[in-house]
Amino acid sequence: MAQLLLRLLLLFAVLAHCIPTRLEFVDEYTTFNGSLASRSLVKRDVYNDCDGPHANLLKKSIEDSNNIMANMVAHLDLAIGLYQDDGSGELRDDKRRRDQRTFDENNAILSYNMFIAKSYFGPGHASNRDGYNKLLGTRSLANFLSGQLKRYINGSPLFSGPDNLPLIRLHCSDADAYSETDQEGRTYTQASGRIQPVKVNGNDIYYVNQNVGGATFGTEESYVWVPRLKVCDVGDGATTRLGGVPVDPGISAYTYTDSAPLKEEIMVFCPASLGKWAATESERSASKVHYRDLHVEMGAQPTDAQIELAKSLKPGENDAENISWLSSFMAQTVIHESTHSRALSGSRDVTLKDVYCKENGVTTQTHTDPGCLQRIAKGDPGTLDENGKAQGHLDAQLFSMYAMAVYVNTITWASGHRAKPRAVIMK
Ligand SMILES: [Zn+2]
Repeated sequence: MAQLLLRLLLLFAVLAHCIPTRLEFVDEYTTFNGSLASRSLVKRDVYNDCDGPHANLLKKSIEDSNNIMANMVAHLDLAIGLYQDDGSGELRDDKRRRDQRTFDENNAILSYNMFIAKSYFGPGHASNRDGYNKLLGTRSLANFLSGQLKRYINGSPLFSGPDNLPLIRLHCSDADAYSETDQEGRTYTQASGRIQPVKVNGNDIYYVNQNVGGATFGTEESYVWVPRLKVCDVGDGATTRLGGVPVDPGISAYTYTDSAPLKEEIMVFCPASLGKWAATESERSASKVHYRDLHVEMGAQPTDAQIELAKSLKPGENDAENISWLSSFMAQTVIHESTHSRALSGSRDVTLKDVYCKENGVTTQTHTDPGCLQRIAKGDPGTLDENGKAQGHLDAQLFSMYAMAVYVNTITWASGHRAKPRAVIMK
């Protein structure tokens, strides 16, 4: 099992990457913007501000994410159904063994153990209840996220609930939301008297002016100086933008949650990455090696073409032959980023984070590094929380990879892995 996990995880591409979302403080030099007074008249729960050449790609990726998330929820329901319903975390007697379960049930639970967290430790084991509760937590988040995506696609208001969830804005460039200067044309240094970068907890922080999503006061909306470590690559070769903020080509997207006086969340997909996702989309659509080509409905049988495709996707020498390609799609990043969003995930208590792999307190692998993902799922030292607990069930990248994996591995894993093969593939 461990070797299989290692092999699968080593095949992940390291494309999705986002920056820490913990810098939630804003600066006291917040000013106000009267020019957007009419915006409140057309307020909606999700502003899709992506109107560039990749607007359709984002739209399609959100629609796919909706399908992928609905499929994830259905799989998690199956996994939970394998357990006794007394909350003990013990498996049902009639579902204990692999050969007692359906393909989909095996796929659901084994994928969970490999991609997120071990959920069962053997009859009567003290950790079973904890493992089961992780499964319930993942299902709860997946279910909420799935519901919000469905509402958005249907044009319905998002569920706001007792937590009064914020609005969220989607951008295909952070230049739409940030500028180097405020509404009076002043740089941060001119407005505040402070030199950039500002040292905060040992980090070099740059303030950029955010002109959307601030609190409104009457009909006035605020301009807010917000702290940033890095910003998107826009594909023009620049190494800094927006007044000296370092460009990081490794960032594909990022999400910042609401933090007063910001009352909206912001999710940004970086221009350079949008180009890569668009290329993946057209290449995979043309070659018919797309997650849409591999998906088999729960309980259904794969077509002959899908069986042939599954055979060709056994781990091999190149990207086309392994599952690393799953993380090269925009939908995977949409799901990853959605788990950082309070508007899409629910309360702040349940949003996921990016778990890092550390040695002696120093980050030694990025949080989307294949080896790091494997360690997080296993709960290895260097990936644990302050109480020494595993964090796979709290990690955004593992959540999104599980979603992608169960969407397609209903057939890919049938070729010699642990899930019970579908009858049709046995022949
Ligand atoms: Zn992230």
